Amino acid sequence: MTLLFTCLLLAVVAWIVFDRRRHARLKTACVAAFEHAYSLVSPRPGFEMGYSYGEPVFQLQFASRADMQAAADANAAFLAAIDALCRDRGRKRQFKAQRAVFFQHPGEDEPVAAHCCDAMRAQIGKAVAYETARRAYGLRTSIIGTPVLPISHCPWCGSSLPPA
Ligand SMILES: [Zn+2]
Repeated sequence: MTLLFTCLLLAVVAWIVFDRRRHARLKTACVAAFEHAYSLVSPRPGFEMGYSYGEPVFQLQFASRADMQAAADANAAFLAAIDALCRDRGRKRQFKAQRAVFFQHPGEDEPVAAHCCDAMRAQIGKAVAYETARRAYGLRTSIIGTPVLPISHCPWCGSSLPPA
């Protein structure tokens, strides 16, 4: 009985290790694809990879709509690369990069200067997640799949942020 339990435990641990390594390999490949596609793009968009219901999802945050449009070639190249890398990652249907990659930019009515300080502006889309519609700020947590941590003050200048 104890032996059976030990075997089961070992199998579970082995599966977790395998899954983590698989994720780490995919993430390395996707980051490389991003670096490659945007090597000539300036300013470089923010890049974030996560999982939604077990399928990889990607968020590319541009500083403005114009920056996003200027990077159209890089965006197309990135979509093609992600399609090739994640081909076998679909759960219920074929994986499509078009559905998994989100190109974003701040709304036109939301001036970039609205943020409290330069440090905050620099971290939007990186350490800080900003939701334009609700004007909500949150710290990104490093573990894939965990939600952002809502914050009410700027970590750099201490300004009060709009309540979420
Ligand atoms: Zn600030």
